[in-house]
Amino acid sequence: MNYRHAFHAGNFADVFKHSILVGLVEALKAKQTPFGFMDTHAGRGRYQLDGSEAKRTGESANGIHRLLGATRAPTLVHVYVNLVRSLNAGHEELSVYPGSPLIASLLMREIDRGTLCELQPEECSALKSVFRGDARFSVHERDGYAAMNALLPLKERRGLVLIDPPFEAQDDEFRIIEKALADASKRWPGGIYAIWYPIKLRQQVQPFHRWLARSAFDKVLIAELLLHPDNSALRLNGCGMALINPPWKFDRQLEELLPALQELLSQSRFGQHRVEWLKQD
Ligand code: SAM
Repeated sequence: MNYRHAFHAGNFADVFKHSILVGLVEALKAKQTPFGFMDTHAGRGRYQLDGSEAKRTGESANGIHRLLGATRAPTLVHVYVNLVRSLNAGHEELSVYPGSPLIASLLMREIDRGTLCELQPEECSALKSVFRGDARFSVHERDGYAAMNALLPLKERRGLVLIDPPFEAQDDEFRIIEKALADASKRWPGGIYAIWYPIKLRQQVQPFHRWLARSAFDKVLIAELLLHPDNSALRLNGCGMALINPPWKFDRQLEELLPALQELLSQSRFGQHRVEWLKQD
């Protein structure tokens, strides 16, 4: 396990994933009853954009930094950017970038609960210090997929499971996700699941989409953003999020969000986005 998210914090994939996460958490807050949030691959929770790792790659320049000047953008983008700014109050330049558990926690209410899993001991220890004192959250140093099997359904009986693996296992990671989701569909068929995936070669993603379309879940929506054509295995050409049981009318929010992200994040004339139901009852 060599992956360290600190090298990639705030890049275009984080912007895509985290602005969708903001939309999902906000949608869950539409009902007054509590919800649960599970982050199976939580990372360290908080990243230093002025730290040596982030500086070495400079990836946030083509990510969160591109959004800071956005004036006319969908509400989701403003909520997300304001949240990042609020963590950097008093700094002219962005210094801190929030990971998925911190973003969710800043939007969640006192009644909502979070379960965070991170397998890397150092990352998990950093995550524990971010959440020390937050009684809503429990942090586990354990395999996120095994935790899904042990802890689903969440006690609140409604909520979101974010699955955001490093894909070090390449195509095999898709098969591991499919296995975890097949188990989860028996334990908690009505949960919302958001699964982030990289897009390099289109052929690598297609079997996962076919699996989702045939899965036991009733509703599967996908959102994708491509900054380069999906025909090279050598770089991250784009990324996607598969949304199982998305909140009501979430496809419409994505149809507003993705063109805006494409415009803000494009690195060349090329850019594509897609919002498509793989399964809808
Ligand atoms: N979700 C985080 C965010 O958006 O801020 C980033 C997560 S990063 C892409 C993936 C994380 O998963 C890494 O910190 C890695 O150490 C951790 N990891 C790898 N395999 C894992 C597993 N089987 N279970 C839990 N965590 C794992």
